[in-house]
Amino acid sequence: MQYRTCPRNGDRISVLGLGCMRLPGALGRPDERRAREIIARAVERGVNYLDTAYLYPGNEACVGASLEELGLRDRVLLATKLPHGSVRSAADLDRIFDEQLRRLRTDRVDYYLIHNVTSPAQWERLRDLGVEDWIERQRAAGRIRRMGFSYHGSAGDFPVVLDAYDWDFCQIQYNYAGERYQAGTAGLLAAHERGMAVFVMEPLLGGRLADRLPDRARKILDAAAEPGLATPAAWGLSWVWDHPEVTMLLSGMSATEQVDENCALADRALPGSLTTSQREVIARVVAEFERANRVPCTGCNYCMPCPRGINIPGCFSAYNASYAHGWLTGVAQYFTASAVRTERPRLVSNCVRCGACARRCPQGIDIPARLSEVGRRFQPGPVGWALEAWSRRPRGRA
Ligand code: SF4
Ligand code: SF4
Repeated sequence: MQYRTCPRNGDRISVLGLGCMRLPGALGRPDERRAREIIARAVERGVNYLDTAYLYPGNEACVGASLEELGLRDRVLLATKLPHGSVRSAADLDRIFDEQLRRLRTDRVDYYLIHNVTSPAQWERLRDLGVEDWIERQRAAGRIRRMGFSYHGSAGDFPVVLDAYDWDFCQIQYNYAGERYQAGTAGLLAAHERGMAVFVMEPLLGGRLADRLPDRARKILDAAAEPGLATPAAWGLSWVWDHPEVTMLLSGMSATEQVDENCALADRALPGSLTTSQREVIARVVAEFERANRVPCTGCNYCMPCPRGINIPGCFSAYNASYAHGWLTGVAQYFTASAVRTERPRLVSNCVRCGACARRCPQGIDIPARLSEVGRRFQPGPVGWALEAWSRRPRGRA
């Protein structure tokens, strides 16, 4: 395992962090036995940074219980996040943080983030509620060690947020397909210039730069494969680690085999190690990816649940798959995602455009409008009318 040092405080962090949001198990019910195995394997292989959040259902409690049972709390830097939208008063800061410490079975959070900042106004609102004094009190009591934020806003707003507080670190979405997306490369450099540690999330775009890469992009990588760069995931992670400004990247590993594979890559994760020709391969992959990637959904599930039962990330995944792997592959995925064969299909045409989902999307996707596109692709004309008639047919009593 390679380690990099946080410029501001000298913390030594493994280049690979464990993003706990994608620990295995049904949404809201992490599989505690498998989660424990993954955490144990990751720490054994040298990972020393674990990231969770208040808003990941059941996740803080699962991580806390695992660390306690494994006796690993003092061997890792534990990160979690403040759901700023739930803070209405200074008292809420204490209430939420105390609950987090209880769930995590710890007396301190090493890295605390304001979760999903999308505009400077969100920090200003917290500041008006007294968050700066609150942070200082927590630091003085040893309950928070480092303070940062995770970001999903525009490139233009990012420097404003960087300069709004004396942050230790920031967490940005960054991958080879997103150099100009959100904070992007300009944001990475701006944070580094300010002496902040930069943590990267979505290095593989929720798996879309790994096993779900478009066929033509995959062929380019397969043709260029070499030891250490044998899989799409290896290319994607190595591209991020190639940047010296990146301190650590988070990977949402959901199986011990993935932990082993990623840790083997992290053993060699030196900055500046990609060659010019390897960077050219990635540029060709980006061109193919952009051709097929119609909706920038990462599958984070923040928009769920939909009151009409629509599987929003599943529909977008199917839509993108129809351009990446062919229409038939996409429509088969769409029928599964929308439960077409069940008593109660949840078609995209069930959407009533309430907008609740779009307000929660960190990627800023206009979800109702994009679901209409999904409908046009998979439920065209008579097919759509037939599916809707089927889904709305009278049902007998159960
Ligand atoms: S806008 Fe449509 S998809 Fe979004 S929550 Fe409302 S009904 Fe569901
Ligand atoms: S639509 Fe947005 S919130 Fe929903 S899963 Fe995709 S990226 Fe996440």
